[in-house]
Amino acid sequence: MPWVRFMALIAVIATVSGCQTLKKVDQGLYQVAESVSEKDRVTGQRSLSMANRSAQIQQGNAYVEKIIANEKKHKRPVNAGVNRAQYLRLVRIFDRIHKVSHLKNERWEPILIKRDSFNAFTTGGTYIVVHSQLMYDLKDDAELAAVVAHEIAHTVANHVYERQTHAQISALAGSNSARRSGYQAAFTHESEREADRIGILYCALAGYDPLAASRIWQRKYATQGNARALFHHDHPVNAERYKEAKAVGEAVKPYYRKGVVNPRSAALLDNNVLWRKNNSQTAAGEGGGVAALLSTALGAYVQHQEAKVEERRQQQQASFVKAVESGLKLESTRKANNHLLETRWRYAVKGPVLKDMVMGMYLKRNGKIERYVDHVKGYIKPGQVFAARFQLPSNLRVDDLKKYGARFYLDDVAAAR
Ligand SMILES: [Zn+2]
Repeated sequence: MPWVRFMALIAVIATVSGCQTLKKVDQGLYQVAESVSEKDRVTGQRSLSMANRSAQIQQGNAYVEKIIANEKKHKRPVNAGVNRAQYLRLVRIFDRIHKVSHLKNERWEPILIKRDSFNAFTTGGTYIVVHSQLMYDLKDDAELAAVVAHEIAHTVANHVYERQTHAQISALAGSNSARRSGYQAAFTHESEREADRIGILYCALAGYDPLAASRIWQRKYATQGNARALFHHDHPVNAERYKEAKAVGEAVKPYYRKGVVNPRSAALLDNNVLWRKNNSQTAAGEGGGVAALLSTALGAYVQHQEAKVEERRQQQQASFVKAVESGLKLESTRKANNHLLETRWRYAVKGPVLKDMVMGMYLKRNGKIERYVDHVKGYIKPGQVFAARFQLPSNLRVDDLKKYGARFYLDDVAAAR
């Protein structure tokens, strides 16, 4: 058991750390810890990182500046050139969130580029990049604030460089589990959850509805389901994200007043209903070096274990969906009208009673995969026949589904207990 060996290592170091003659060694250890870690800005814990902040900014920003140069080279507009009103709206919302964040002392800037996809990202520097379509797909300012806050939170929590460092370390250590793609996905799952939590707190502190994030994911679940076993996920599925974002939003609601920046926001960043900053750091030379090093190694170890558990859970869910899917028989299809397809299915195997079933259909149109889902209400017993209806957009007719190679799939399902 690696855990047992690890505990033994802790015991050995802990025993010698009280000794005065080892003060020098302890200071040395502290420097080692400093070089591979930085104090987590959120909780005061340490997380792995091999680059310091100014190197991170340089590296992260160089990447974004390359993107901007590339846009200009291809004569594509940037920022106000994309849409002046939308760019000013982005800057206004961005500034309010950034001012309550852990990195408010850095000079940050949002970049708007013209793309017809729902996307925003950070590279660990002082930019966030927003695709223009996202501005239109979100319903209001609070939802845009939620996306912006989530992206800032990724940098605050050091996710970009944490991932790099984990990849470097697992390559050095030759760890198999770290290389498996499911594990990588699970690691990102945890990063996404953390960025959601931090981002939702920022929203509340900046005076934006902290439940807006949960509404984004609720809508995604309603229209796109979870695609649980359809493809590999590097983000939590929509339903889980919706539930968690809602719980966090409710928890931080007491800090929120619409349109008003919370006057206690700086203090609330350190201590709030979601986390409590650990202030019991001992100085170097007084055992602090050992503590710092241990919390780094321990932090990586715990993260590793959590990612493995999460990976297993995701795999189990996906194989359950696959198993149920193989027991579903299509009984009939019917064109209810030009844009509504009705299908009837039989749950044709002996298995558990099912709930939360989402039936899906995907097709390829203009080079893009499109998904349509129906949330089947109630419980489904073995042998039961049920209906799934697919509402198509006005530019897609039932008669054309064959042409686009439409196929059905089971999007997600749970066993009733
Ligand atoms: Zn994210």
